[in-house]
Amino acid sequence: MSGLHIPIDTPDGSRTAHAENVLAPNPGMMTLDGTNTWVIGTDEVMVVDPGPDDAAHLDRVVRHLGERRVRQILLTHGHSDHSGGARRFAELVGAPVRALDPRHRLGSEGLADGDVVAVGGVELHVYGTPGHSFDSLCFWLPEDRAMLTGDTVLGRGTTVIAQDGGLADYLRSLDRLRQAAEELAADALLPGHGPVLAHPIGALDGYIRHRRERLDQIRSAQKQGARTPREIVEIVYADVDRQLWPMAEISVRAQLDYLGSP
Ligand SMILES: [Zn+2]
Repeated sequence: MSGLHIPIDTPDGSRTAHAENVLAPNPGMMTLDGTNTWVIGTDEVMVVDPGPDDAAHLDRVVRHLGERRVRQILLTHGHSDHSGGARRFAELVGAPVRALDPRHRLGSEGLADGDVVAVGGVELHVYGTPGHSFDSLCFWLPEDRAMLTGDTVLGRGTTVIAQDGGLADYLRSLDRLRQAAEELAADALLPGHGPVLAHPIGALDGYIRHRRERLDQIRSAQKQGARTPREIVEIVYADVDRQLWPMAEISVRAQLDYLGSP
């Protein structure tokens, strides 16, 4: 944990030795404090998730870089709160954009499970972690024993399985991350939204437990006669702010798919 210094409530400026967060000004129910744009490296850097297409944010990232040159722009996934600004940012700094989904790339190189991206002696190892979205990736930063998790694991709360994701994949990805965190002795998770998590295995166990509990709750709501996703939400998410119910319904649909319901 040496080198970590983590502000409690403000992801902006949170960092490990070779990763610094510049927070995008797009807070919301799905984005928590906003999107975390991670600058990785020393003199030459990689930028993970430029964030939304917000000129002021992208300018702020450029100012934050100072003399440092961006060699690679990487996306944890293609959702617009992470990728929307990638094209504009690529033009500002003159670097390619690499992503799993070819539609989000700029330049000839892709990005996939097992790849190692190295800039200025600092490496990111790519883990394919589909589930939140079909194209979700995590990046292991061995130098700092930190895993960049995108939206697969958030700094607070839990992740929604988007319509382009899937729960079976997501559960496998969480198990894989848990195993990696253990084998690699990870010190931190650097999420796409919210604060740095300093206890990776505990955080991942919490995520896995939460998913299993929700599935159990859905099975029991079905036993109580709930049939539609909305009816299930009304039972399972009764204690949750109604504003969040439409999101909960997306999550319930993903869980019903997983459980094999019509
Ligand atoms: Zn996001």
